[in-house]
Amino acid sequence: MRRPFVAGNWKMNGSKASIRELLDGLNQGIAGVTAEVAVCPPSIYLAEVAEQLDGSPISWGAQNLSQEASGAFTGEISPAMVKDLACTYVLVGHSERRSIYGEDDALVAKKFAAARAMGVKPILCVGETLEEREKGVTEDVVGRQLDAVLELEGISAFNDAVVAYEPVWAIGTGMTASPEQAQDVHAFIRQRFASHDAAVAEGLRIQYGGSVKGANAAELFAKPDIDGGLIGGASLDADEFLSICRAAS
Ligand code: PEP
Repeated sequence: MRRPFVAGNWKMNGSKASIRELLDGLNQGIAGVTAEVAVCPPSIYLAEVAEQLDGSPISWGAQNLSQEASGAFTGEISPAMVKDLACTYVLVGHSERRSIYGEDDALVAKKFAAARAMGVKPILCVGETLEEREKGVTEDVVGRQLDAVLELEGISAFNDAVVAYEPVWAIGTGMTASPEQAQDVHAFIRQRFASHDAAVAEGLRIQYGGSVKGANAAELFAKPDIDGGLIGGASLDADEFLSICRAAS
């Protein structure tokens, strides 16, 4: 039985004051949520988030990390720093990193490997653009994104990782994939892993991301291969995020 997992990706939002208020709201409302819950703040706030979540069931993660160990990489965050801040998770391959910062499949695979080498669990984000969906190549694109990591790290790496299926056209647009559209791709992803190792595939948590809200979360999470969500905009509002967490519980 897979424990549902909801993670909030705050992206480049928030301030010390707003984050304190958001975490107060989450800490107050988290009782009774049985799904696993994590938040991914901007890295500059990770230390404060770690302090405020000390003793809370909510864990935290980084939104990105460097594939390099240390040195002259101005502005980057090393895997060891992510570990030092006690991050349980780190997002790798978010579509904004792929499209705005040019991260290709090979680089994403290196980041995935760098996180694992530090004992930080990667949340590997994959998904197709609208153009790719309309061309009918969704499975080719998602399969290629998964294979890049599988080839570098092997199937056993996914014992301790999470996959987030995030159709690019649904991220931040208000255009959620229908539960059926999402389930189809989630089933494809699980099948891809099952062709390597059925047990790993069965245990793998696959989150859905893309305009999830309290109002649409339950019908998405009811699908058999959807094991929770990666939540952007709605994770910035404590009540909305908690209602998504409850829908996954
Ligand atoms: C995301 O950024 O991972 C995301 C899913 O964003 P949103 O929920 O705002 O679509």
